[in-house]
Amino acid sequence: MIKQLIPEGFCLKCQGCCRFREQSSVWAPCLLDEEIQSLLDRKDIPPSTLSMERRLGLILDPEQEGFICPFFNTKDNNCKTYSFRPFECQLYPFLISFREEKVLLTVDLSCPYAKKNVNTKAFKEYTSYLTDFLNSPKQRKVFKENPQIIQAYAEVFDLMELQALDEAE
Ligand code: SF4
Repeated sequence: MIKQLIPEGFCLKCQGCCRFREQSSVWAPCLLDEEIQSLLDRKDIPPSTLSMERRLGLILDPEQEGFICPFFNTKDNNCKTYSFRPFECQLYPFLISFREEKVLLTVDLSCPYAKKNVNTKAFKEYTSYLTDFLNSPKQRKVFKENPQIIQAYAEVFDLMELQALDEAE
């Protein structure tokens, strides 16, 4: 599990994460191959929980316009699989982005906590922790085997350039 920056109480009061405007949203969490396999192995979830694009398959929000993650509980704002949530969910609002031949650690400033704290010492320290974690040989191996996790996310704020995947260790 990735060490978290944002206090849990802040996330539980926010109405942002895990909800999406479109069913085919590029913000729907991408899944690692091993996460796809463990979802396929589960008997308690329908196959539609996975999309063809190796993402979580979004479903209609029962309470308002738009779509939600199939693991999201709109009643209490909780993730029903929090301890086993996908890598991309653990990372958010940070995202690994690919732009102009570079792999970048970026942040989505539509997260109110990130927007408010992006210039704080704690945020910068966390960015540094995350950069080291993502550049570790173990993590780089995961990314090489799961290139779907690195997307050309638009409208994100660049924090740090990560080691290119074809760079020698
Ligand atoms: S798996 Fe959990 S944290 Fe990830 S989008 Fe779904 S509800 Fe949110």
